[in-house]
Amino acid sequence: MKSVNLIISEYTKKYGLKNGEIIRVLRSIIGKIKNTSSETIIFSPEKVSMNDDETHILENMLLRYLKKEPLSKIINRKAFWNHDFFVNEHVLDPRSETEIIVQMVLERFSVTSPLRFLDLGTGSGCILLSLMSEFPHAIGLGLDLSQEAIRVAIHNREKLKLKNVDFLKIDWNSFLCNQKFDVIVSNPPYVKTSHIPKLGKSVRDYDPVLALDGGKSGLRAHEEISGLARKWLSPHGKIFLEIGRGQASKVQKILRKNRFKIEKIETDMNGLERAICAAVCV
Ligand code: GLN
Repeated sequence: MKSVNLIISEYTKKYGLKNGEIIRVLRSIIGKIKNTSSETIIFSPEKVSMNDDETHILENMLLRYLKKEPLSKIINRKAFWNHDFFVNEHVLDPRSETEIIVQMVLERFSVTSPLRFLDLGTGSGCILLSLMSEFPHAIGLGLDLSQEAIRVAIHNREKLKLKNVDFLKIDWNSFLCNQKFDVIVSNPPYVKTSHIPKLGKSVRDYDPVLALDGGKSGLRAHEEISGLARKWLSPHGKIFLEIGRGQASKVQKILRKNRFKIEKIETDMNGLERAICAAVCV
């Protein structure tokens, strides 16, 4: 058995990686293997030790990280809004810029209202489940084409002990419903097919292509969703869509064509237009 501090110093030396980033990564990996928090590893390292098998697992995980696999996919965990979400190779890694959508909904609706939320292409469920945790009286439905993604979203729902939220494996084009929603959210695929090979390795090789590929124009999903959402929204309903770099004016045009009124385009921490809110024109 070896103490964690000794292991951390051995591995940072072995791979010539003595910097804060790698120490943070090693602590997260050890936390995953030992099923303990980074705080325990930082503040009570004497309580955590590892045997040879565990150190072997750690080295394998470290090598995956050094080959550009995102840490979240290695430790199956990613923080988003107020919670940690389970993630795997079947879902898009939750990104901090997507939290803007949760923020935008919170700014426009009262947390005490009995709202109905619909999330299109829910993936890990991070947007919808974050909303459900903020709006205790709401009802939510998340759709995804991928059965594996739906399994992840359901797992996250159970982990967060959230009620009144369902997930359905279905193509949104085939989704028929006779009820109306107050809020539709989506972070749909919006990368042009031709751009996918040029994405960074950590996205291209580890995020599901289904969650990235927005077709030839990159806006196939936005076109489809804007057409469908108009029928599914209540008269005071709003839609919140994530968009990629340089897509704001095209998405506005698509939404206007489908009789939406643009309310707000929000920028992310890099100053890029990242999310759009539109209301039903009555
Ligand atoms: N934001 C992702 C990226 O950086 C794309 C996610 C999406 O297509 N919805 O590649």
